[in-house]
Amino acid sequence: MTQNANSTAPIVRMERVNKHFGSLHVLKEIDLTVTPGEVVVIIGASGSGKSTLIRCINGLEEFQGGQIEVDGNELLPNGKSGRALQRIRTEVGMVFQQFNLFPHLSVLDNVILAPMKVRGWSRADALETAERLLARVGISDQARKYPSQLSGGQQQRVALARALAMEPRLMLFDEPTSALDPEMIGEVLDAMRELAREGMTMIIVTHEMGFAREVADRVIYIHKGEIAEQAPPEQIFDQPTDERTRSFLARVL
Ligand code: ADP
Ligand code: MG
Repeated sequence: MTQNANSTAPIVRMERVNKHFGSLHVLKEIDLTVTPGEVVVIIGASGSGKSTLIRCINGLEEFQGGQIEVDGNELLPNGKSGRALQRIRTEVGMVFQQFNLFPHLSVLDNVILAPMKVRGWSRADALETAERLLARVGISDQARKYPSQLSGGQQQRVALARALAMEPRLMLFDEPTSALDPEMIGEVLDAMRELAREGMTMIIVTHEMGFAREVADRVIYIHKGEIAEQAPPEQIFDQPTDERTRSFLARVL
């Protein structure tokens, strides 16, 4: 394990990161530092590069230039990261818009799979943790069901419990409520709010501006692959300094 002895060392450090999809320059000179316990919310128009940015952090996307370091593990450009990538994937949890649960496994088996396979936990230990986490996200009573028997909001809370079972140092969220019916958004945001309160380091892409204002320590507005502005939520939402941020917020608020 390469956990930093110094707890104030950044968990994420991106320097001059550039990413291209063929001729499309998707991320431009991204500099981003996230410290332990920080909650960072990323906002921006569709296609601006938000998903690509957070997918670079856990190595789901390669990048072409710059540096990314996650909890002391350095990712190298062009997929040359080697073992650092495996370490990062075990330390970083991710929740996607689509819940991506294993449909053929029960809720409980979805949650215990990775801790047993990747962390080498005993079934008994993994079950104990899973039951605690399912209780924490309010779905203990669904543990024996299969994903298809659950509502979207319940499935997303299982996905959250499954990510937390790996005891991540950092959680990434990519529009975790965008696929949900409106009445289920609140229960997922509540679980995330609770996690933030407990001090989890989180990077969240969301269109839920009220939630962003409430939980974020810092909001980043990304415009066509560039960080146009970043500031505490009160400043971004009430007094944005960049014209591009202002016009985006005027459209979405
Ligand atoms: P956002 O999450 O902000 O909507 P994305 O990061 O998904 O934006 O996409 C940024 C840009 O990169 C978009 O123009 C998108 O079409 C493009 N893009 C995303 N993934 C791929 C891919 N796998 N291949 C080619 N282009 C992609
Ligand atoms: Mg996206």
